[in-house]
Amino acid sequence: MDLEANRLGLLESVLGAVHVGAIVLDGAGRIVLWNRWMEQYSAMPAGDVLCRDFYALFPEMRSQRIGMAIQQALASNFPSLLSQTLNKSPFPLHADHAAAARGERLQQAIAVTPVALAGAERHCLIQITDVSIAANREKVLREQAMVLRSQTFSDGLTGVANRRHFDVAIDKEQRRAKRNNASLSLLMIDIDCFKAYNDHYGHQQGDQCLIQVSAALAAMLHRSTDLLARYGGEEFAIILPDTDADQAMLMAEALRQRVLALAIEHRCAAEGRQHVTVSVGLATLSPQQPFDVPALIGAADRALYAAKHAGRNRVAAHQHEVCDR
Ligand code: GH3
Ligand code: MG
Ligand code: MG
Repeated sequence: MDLEANRLGLLESVLGAVHVGAIVLDGAGRIVLWNRWMEQYSAMPAGDVLCRDFYALFPEMRSQRIGMAIQQALASNFPSLLSQTLNKSPFPLHADHAAAARGERLQQAIAVTPVALAGAERHCLIQITDVSIAANREKVLREQAMVLRSQTFSDGLTGVANRRHFDVAIDKEQRRAKRNNASLSLLMIDIDCFKAYNDHYGHQQGDQCLIQVSAALAAMLHRSTDLLARYGGEEFAIILPDTDADQAMLMAEALRQRVLALAIEHRCAAEGRQHVTVSVGLATLSPQQPFDVPALIGAADRALYAAKHAGRNRVAAHQHEVCDR
């Protein structure tokens, strides 16, 4: 066998052995090479496709990115890379019969390269790489990242937003209120005599009480922009966007009554009460006032302190000191 024939034979074996799909089109768009990898994953033997027009086999690809890439390679000598993310699996390639039956295609990264042939028109090589493993790994990682993200922003005990989530949300809502010339109200809600509850009923039942109270508070919020967060220990915060002081007062009062209506026994509550209650501090930023998150939180905190001081199980509002500074 002469050297040239030997080299050609070797090339053919290499093309058959590579783990990449290889298709070569001539200048007229006819398929002149279809390697073994393509035969295996397309279930189309080379004998069935060679010399056929590429678009007669895959008409839908004429209008896809890959059609443009082939056109650019043949007409303008211009190579292209098509990622799986932007070009969803254009070739009907399947890992096996079962995947084909499910309509599950291999995920594909595609390179389209012009090939110069001495004394002949320009050809074009289409290389297809199976990126299913990488793409699936990416999907799993994305899903895990989403779970982690939601865990990072929610409280482990009650499932409501945590302090970190609150800090981000209050900042965002303050900027939105400023932009839209809208009101923004903040409620600070603290369970009354909770230390005594823990001391009497035990920490575990204290936890159950926190879960019950937070669920009752959450059930009272109906707008998707309202946010309930566990601010710390037995203290919750509720952000109420587009809510003025009067509306917030109604809401706060309804929340206080809702917790009372749970009728959670508390034998050691203050002032002869027998049930778990909450005190609520309310502060509102109105469009006329300068917006400042620490001032708003401080005002709601002072209002909460006033509610405690006045005997607990009540709502106190604090609106005027917000723009002191
Ligand atoms: P006040 O009416 O003035 O709010 O009195 P209080 O007893 O509720 O307030 P204090 O700040 O003295 O006590 C809060 C208690 O909340 C103390 C702490 O052990 C309890 N606590 C904080 N976080 C948790 C928790 O995650 N689980 C349980 N069971 N208790 C908690
Ligand atoms: Mg308390
Ligand atoms: Mg407290």
